[in-house]
Amino acid sequence: MERESGAYCGGSSRNRIFHKIREAGSVSASRLSYELMLSRPTVKKCMDELLQAGFIYESGYIGNTGGRRAGAYSVAPGARAAIGIDLTRNHITVIAADLCGNLIYEKRVHREFALDDGYFRYLGQLVTEAVESRQIGPETVLGTGIVVPGLITEDHREIFYGKILDFTGLTVDEIGKYIPLACRLYNDADAGGYAEVSKREDMADAFYISLSNNIGGSILIDHKVYKGEGPRSGEVGHMTIVPDGRQCYCGQRGCFETYCNATVLADLYQGNLEQFFQHLESGDAACVSLWQEYLKDLALAVNNVRMLFDCKVILGGYVGAHMEPYLAELKELAANKNPFEGNADYLEVCRVKKEALALGGALPFIHELWKTI
Ligand SMILES: [Zn+2]
Repeated sequence: MERESGAYCGGSSRNRIFHKIREAGSVSASRLSYELMLSRPTVKKCMDELLQAGFIYESGYIGNTGGRRAGAYSVAPGARAAIGIDLTRNHITVIAADLCGNLIYEKRVHREFALDDGYFRYLGQLVTEAVESRQIGPETVLGTGIVVPGLITEDHREIFYGKILDFTGLTVDEIGKYIPLACRLYNDADAGGYAEVSKREDMADAFYISLSNNIGGSILIDHKVYKGEGPRSGEVGHMTIVPDGRQCYCGQRGCFETYCNATVLADLYQGNLEQFFQHLESGDAACVSLWQEYLKDLALAVNNVRMLFDCKVILGGYVGAHMEPYLAELKELAANKNPFEGNADYLEVCRVKKEALALGGALPFIHELWKTI
């Protein structure tokens, strides 16, 4: 049987039809019958149910050269939506994804994180504003994923390690107190990795490294985040790369975090990473020298990950978004450390350029629904 969206497919005939329509974009009933090897009456019955539920709609006709034209069906993207919120020290990003998993709403505001009622109330306002926007039908929203720089309990309800924003112990009930929807917490790197891999039918397994103001990592196996026992898996930021090296906020020394987080570069320009890359491009000597050191340390960590997992390694986060022009150089440095491979073609930069973390908070709601349609 041909490959269908394995990780998101529920298996029933109706579900297979839904996914085939979703993947094709626009498809006729006869093609569904042929490609899925289902009888015409079965296809008709399932499609009637999907139409009734509002998950698909008749989107036009297929074929225009003589004979009867067949009706074409597509997924109704507005049938459901989910909200994702990305919280950082200084910003809040709110996005919405539609039933197809596409970004349909985004808003980023500058607001310093604070552990107080005013901040939580503001989050509620931002979500309400998104839900009531013209892009979204309020009754279609499945839930809200709140993405934070912290480690989250397996039930997605509590931050059990939150040194970055000093919010250890904060629960989803407190943070989502004013959000009028079901809420869940997600770790930021896990959300970024999930968003990245869920867009890649050709890549079920990967290690995602988020290179933002902090470093996070996420292990994706068969399109799912591998959580570990803690759950603390993928915390590559606290891998020691220099024994007794620089002091890390975690209390240890020499963590990868302290050598390759984005502020290491941005601090050269008062925290402005864009300016760092502009000056790097124009060949500024101080930038070039810092960047060489940075790439060397990054290559070391990347190669360690490759040695452990032998899977694709995706670079995301603020620095990942700027990495494309320097990827060949980084690949060479990583390949030089590898005893088994002469290249580092396993290394890629992220493809989800816009709001990957917030999107990774919303997509699980959509994908869970996909399995049940
Ligand atoms: Zn550390």
